[in-house]
Amino acid sequence: KAHFNVETIRKDFPILSRKVNGYPLVYFDNAATSQTPQQVIDTIVDYYSRYNANIHRGVHTLSQEATDAYEEARIKIQKHFNAEKSHEIIFTSGTTHAINLVASGFASLLKKGDEIIVSALEHHSNIVPWQMLCEKTGAQLKVIPMGEEGALKMDEFEALLSERTKLVFVNHVSNALGTVNPVKEIIKKAHEVGAAVLLDGAQAAPHIKADVQELDVDFYVVSAHKMCGPTGVGVLYGKEEWLNKLPPYQGGGEMIATVTFEKTTYADLPHKFEAGTPNICGGIAFGAALDYMNNIGFDTIAAYEQELLEYATEKLREIEGLKIYGTSGEKTAVISFNIGDIHPYDIGTIIDKLGIAVRTGHHCAQPVMDFYGIPGTVRASFAFYNTKEEIDVFVKAVERAKNMLS
Ligand code: PMP
Repeated sequence: KAHFNVETIRKDFPILSRKVNGYPLVYFDNAATSQTPQQVIDTIVDYYSRYNANIHRGVHTLSQEATDAYEEARIKIQKHFNAEKSHEIIFTSGTTHAINLVASGFASLLKKGDEIIVSALEHHSNIVPWQMLCEKTGAQLKVIPMGEEGALKMDEFEALLSERTKLVFVNHVSNALGTVNPVKEIIKKAHEVGAAVLLDGAQAAPHIKADVQELDVDFYVVSAHKMCGPTGVGVLYGKEEWLNKLPPYQGGGEMIATVTFEKTTYADLPHKFEAGTPNICGGIAFGAALDYMNNIGFDTIAAYEQELLEYATEKLREIEGLKIYGTSGEKTAVISFNIGDIHPYDIGTIIDKLGIAVRTGHHCAQPVMDFYGIPGTVRASFAFYNTKEEIDVFVKAVERAKNMLS
């Protein structure tokens, strides 16, 4: 197990030494976007300084270097998620793009009377594309309900399953609450009725190293910007047999085998789903981000983040009137809370003046907020480069905001 020294780690992140409103930055908005280590920034600078070129088609040296680096990144991602084949890794612009790619593909596979199941805990990006798909196909959307503590009601899930169920979409970890869903059981039960499962790994991937073969999941989607990589890049993992069944998402260059005005044939995987010039630098930098995190080790990261989570939960609970949402079972380092009927936005605004970044609002999960009958929450989300000292600063600031607002 790698020795973990948070002060050494923090030196890798230049942004962590900046000041905000005259105070040292305390960055607790990691569930929205994580920060970027120097190693990844260097990779980006190196790409644009030395070998920026379009990939796959060029015979010249720069194009070949860029192609090699991009395809090496794909293999790093394949190994990280333990996909069986590298062409099961499709580069996308992020989680949202990956989900829309699958939803659009399923439009040709679904018919009226088919059913799609999502969970009550979903991000809007995992609700809206399915609603659009249902409108197109006449399929019906069913929802796994949640309980007060944020756990999905698994017996009700089982009752929803039938031979009509064609797809099940659940987030691996809820972005609104940080709760880890029982995905292995969901996959097993869904497969028993022949349904495919897509897991939204956007919030899980920064904390949990998912093994797609062990999970036996059909699709897994992530965004690089939540795991120390740049924005605008992510991946869709899909089992080869499913990716072969889905039609291409977008037409264009890169995704064809032959084109005539009479008929076009499509390229093999993964290129069939990668029309146009991709985010080449982003893909390469995503690979560098995975190297960086794997160098520290996901077990080490998870253990340290759990320490932060426990410490912060304990400290926040000392504030009278503070309520934490999503307390069931296993969690990643996310705390979603409110204090009395103080608006979360007001707390967020006051603590920003003290240099502290948290997210406030519905976190793109309005159905979860409706469930609790609240407009939103304050969400503090920690990464492995955060410290207990920062949590102390944060808790004091929240107390100060509470005193000012009540
Ligand atoms: N799903 C979940 C669970 C998320 O947390 C997010 C990002 N907030 C998304 C999907 C969307 O990711 P992106 O904006 O990178 O496409």
